[in-house]
Amino acid sequence: MEISFSGKRIVVTGAGQGIGRDIVKKLVECKAKVIAVSRTKSYLETLKQECPDIEIIAVDLQNWNATREALSKLKNIDGLVNNAAIAMLRGFFDITEHDVDLSFDVNVKSVINVSQIIAADMVARKSGGAIVNISSQAALAALRDHTVYCGTKGALDSIARCMALELGPHNIRVNCVNPTVIMTEMGKLGWSDPAKAQSMISKIPLGRFGEVDEVVNAVLFLLSDKSSMINGVSLPVDGGFLAT
Ligand code: NAP
Repeated sequence: MEISFSGKRIVVTGAGQGIGRDIVKKLVECKAKVIAVSRTKSYLETLKQECPDIEIIAVDLQNWNATREALSKLKNIDGLVNNAAIAMLRGFFDITEHDVDLSFDVNVKSVINVSQIIAADMVARKSGGAIVNISSQAALAALRDHTVYCGTKGALDSIARCMALELGPHNIRVNCVNPTVIMTEMGKLGWSDPAKAQSMISKIPLGRFGEVDEVVNAVLFLLSDKSSMINGVSLPVDGGFLAT
């Protein structure tokens, strides 16, 4: 199955590192015009060296108004990938107010903010579109030390279903991709300890963590017209972890 995004303009958040960076590169390979949004400007600049045709926007998505200012100029967007997120991992009794506020600001509030900005223009143009959120298996299963992160990803799945309901009549589809552990910088944070890693791997029927490409492929499918009747789903990319 060939997927082409020729003539399409796609925004990807959290594009500086990890999964988001590879989503940008694959979209460019598939002929999309990409707007890469992330926090650290230097990572975006090296990405632009690799993919000179992309547009880059450095903004801290935690800041609602700065995000509005930076992204409101974006028009004629066909697709959005809400990928930026943080993971602050602690045992339940060690969670701080700061952990909760920062995590929900970046992982949840910013998704509503960015999606409003992009979807409002899609509705005004009557163009339709596709929004894909990078959620997690953590939305759907309990993971030790992950209370706040699990809470944000559960909220993200729920928000995506509500957006699917309200934006569907405008032919805007909203879906989530829910990966298992992927060994990016974020993945290393939670799973570098071999004992922890082994305990998680033992619960994954395919017996391994996921690869970045395996997430990227699912995202491109849900962004593309090949998934034109799929709306409001949370798609695990987890080797069967959630099935057991
Ligand atoms: P990552 O390597 O830590 O990359 C996250 C990206 O998001 C970075 O480029 C980061 O910017 C950006 N970001 C974070 N906070 C931001 C903010 N306030 N404003 C703008 N950009 C911000 O993480 P990843 O593993 O690629 O994760 C990508 C997505 O997959 C996340 O939604 C994550 O929850 C999800 N996920 C990851 C795993 C995993 O095991 N890795 C599993 C399931 C789901 P900087 O470059 O400045 O750091």
